[in-house]
Amino acid sequence: EELPDVTTAREFYAKYVPKEILGKGVSSCVRRCVHKQSNREYAVKIIDLTDQNNKISEELRSVTHNEINILKEVSGHAHIIELVDVFETDASIFLVFELLRKGELFDYLTKVVKFGEKQTRFTMRSLLEAIAYLHSQNIIHRDLKPENILLDDKLQLHLSDFGFSVRIEDGQYFKDLYGTPGYMSPEMLKCTVDEYHEGYGKEIDMWACGVIMYTLLAGVPPFWHRRQIIMLRRIMEGEYTFPSPDWDDVSESAKDLVVKMLEVDPSRRLTAKQALAHPFFQQVDEAERFCV
Ligand code: ADP
Ligand code: MG
Repeated sequence: EELPDVTTAREFYAKYVPKEILGKGVSSCVRRCVHKQSNREYAVKIIDLTDQNNKISEELRSVTHNEINILKEVSGHAHIIELVDVFETDASIFLVFELLRKGELFDYLTKVVKFGEKQTRFTMRSLLEAIAYLHSQNIIHRDLKPENILLDDKLQLHLSDFGFSVRIEDGQYFKDLYGTPGYMSPEMLKCTVDEYHEGYGKEIDMWACGVIMYTLLAGVPPFWHRRQIIMLRRIMEGEYTFPSPDWDDVSESAKDLVVKMLEVDPSRRLTAKQALAHPFFQQVDEAERFCV
């Protein structure tokens, strides 16, 4: 394979040796890399700032600067990915992260199909702690999904991909569409059909948490339909069920927490802090760990 931009990214290549690809996005490529001096492994997200016409996108540059600024602020949290190094050239930006060897929660879930309640509790607690922290810093993630939740050797969760994250002031609202359709909240979708809609705030992350928790427990997402327009309508109406037999063995407290996060009215939806105080998390499992 060809490596991007070797000539303009000397500084990065002087310090690190890039290895195989771990993941790919629209304008980014993530590779394992080795720090030459220490021989330690990291992950580097290489963002290519050039477009199809070989022109440099200053917009993508400033979007990436926003991602870096937010990462620098929140990187210290136990359940948020750690940014260790940044390199910038005319045509690309290199973000060096701690390497999360077990990859995406998405792939892990695909392998095991669905989680039991204990595993769900372990996962959701860490995720909600990360979100409670972000929200306390007035940051919305805006792209919560199992592809952006990474696992380390011990299967501890690290929230990643702050590419759509944004700072929000008290009383501020946004209207632009961000994220991934299946995880978008009703109030965000309503902004696209009603120009007088007031907009959305932090609560959108908690809706995505509801979608994630439902998916962990069921192995299938709550609103899915092969025709996307129908899925979006279901989301806006908060139309989903706990079908039998899949949900028969799931406790009432787990379902109750899902219901309170998948609340269409954002003002009535649980906050991350409230969710962490829910009875579902008060149960102490005899072995508090991710059971593989
Ligand atoms: P994008 O904005 O293109 O979605 P992400 O930051 O989500 O970029 O990274 C894309 C993918 O690369 C992730 O979904 C994951 O599979 C992989 N990846 C990213 N960072 C790491 C990391 N630190 N360790 C291991 N894999 C990673
Ligand atoms: Mg991503």
